[in-house]
Amino acid sequence: MQADPAAQVLLLQISDIDNQVRQLNTRKRGLPEHEQLAGLNQQRQLLSEQQVIARSRISDAEAVLERVETDLTATKARLTRNTQRLDDGLLSDPRSIKATQDEIAHLKERIAALEDQELDAMQVIEDEKAALDKLTAQRESVESQMRKLLVSRDATGREIDQTLQTLATKRAEMAAKVPTELITLYTKIAGRQDAGAAQLKAGRCTGCGLALDASTMTRIANTAPAEVVRCEECGRILVRAS
Ligand SMILES: [Zn+2]
Repeated sequence: MQADPAAQVLLLQISDIDNQVRQLNTRKRGLPEHEQLAGLNQQRQLLSEQQVIARSRISDAEAVLERVETDLTATKARLTRNTQRLDDGLLSDPRSIKATQDEIAHLKERIAALEDQELDAMQVIEDEKAALDKLTAQRESVESQMRKLLVSRDATGREIDQTLQTLATKRAEMAAKVPTELITLYTKIAGRQDAGAAQLKAGRCTGCGLALDASTMTRIANTAPAEVVRCEECGRILVRAS
């Protein structure tokens, strides 16, 4: 293939842009924020699960408390009634008096047991609410860190995108100056590797680093400048002029 040496030189500049684009895309994918965000998101999920557990323990204990308090109210009322009946001397039959006294003793035991359950439930509610407050604060802190990281990730991403946009415009302008046949060949090579052209410098291909042997160098030196030469190793277009 023949091509104006000046157009071949343009391929070097296009290669340079393609390399920059590849580096920028790699940088964008590898931003440290991605990994930090993934770690924080995991923490957030864990905290959220713990919040669910704490809330369910609170509601269980509240249900127990409600049942115990209802029971307690009824038991206390019955105790008051029985005590009243004894105090008012309404019972004359010794067996009824004994039965009422026994029931009073039983009701007092029952009240003591219910009061223990009431305290236990209240303690659970208090402990779990404190734990929930702590979990909520931790989650808020994690989410605030995530928001900051998202802002910084998006800002860097936008910055990279703008640079990519500028490079794309520049590349299109340059590519328009290269003959169709040559840019088509370049694009085909660039599809297989990062850049489709490299410079022949001090006997080496700057694309793959291969040192050309003496006979190849002689052959290239005897080739017309307009002839498009390719690296035998990497296949890139070897640009001789600089
Ligand atoms: Zn090469």
